[in-house]
Amino acid sequence: LSTHNGIVIPDNWAGYNLDVFSLPSHYCEDLECVFIPHGVIEDRTERIANEIMKDLGDNHITVLCVLKGGYRFCTDLVEHIKNLSRNSERFISMRVDFIRLRSYCNDTCMDEMQIIGGDDLSKLSGKNVLIVEDIISTGRTMSALLSHLGKYNPKMVKVASLLVKRSDSNNGFKPDYIGFEIPNKFVVGYALDYNEHFRDLHHICVINENGKLKYKV
Ligand code: 5GP
Repeated sequence: LSTHNGIVIPDNWAGYNLDVFSLPSHYCEDLECVFIPHGVIEDRTERIANEIMKDLGDNHITVLCVLKGGYRFCTDLVEHIKNLSRNSERFISMRVDFIRLRSYCNDTCMDEMQIIGGDDLSKLSGKNVLIVEDIISTGRTMSALLSHLGKYNPKMVKVASLLVKRSDSNNGFKPDYIGFEIPNKFVVGYALDYNEHFRDLHHICVINENGKLKYKV
């Protein structure tokens, strides 16, 4: 259980200088640092896939990918689970569904989770569901999604989140699988956005004031 919080990144972690990794040059002035390099995300994702395999092997699961931020993590996680299934006696058969939520404008949380698209959730009734999310901050989005999902009576629900933010306003929700626990900073990249920008960034980075201003809506 000691690994349950994932890799814990301390408050004083300054990240890597932007010069030591490759980044799209159009973002260089908008970022403070590379916070989690892509390779580390990959390696951590492989291990989470391993744990999911241990816990849920020999089951059929429906992966519910939370768009848009969760799409990179979800694709990579599913790919690793598929590889593990191919190479062992145990396997997980999977279906992938999508749900689109909206909860942020600029870097501020809005009041209510809104479902703005995706698959028909009634198909999840009686199924083993693995929700794959990019980041949990206050936990409100996930709590709202879980209670909404409960109406469709899934057989089991587990949550995998690449990131969990240490924040005073966290409502106590904790995912079953966590990639990294991070300080209370606004991060972008690896499909996480700031007003739809930065999703094409390979690494997880911290946005700077310049970037916040430039892409403000
Ligand atoms: P919560 O309801 O837990 O406060 O927020 C969850 C959602 O907020 C995430 O799915 C994500 O869309 C967004 N979010 C929270 N923190 C960050 C962040 O640091 N960066 C980005 N890009 N999105 C965030």
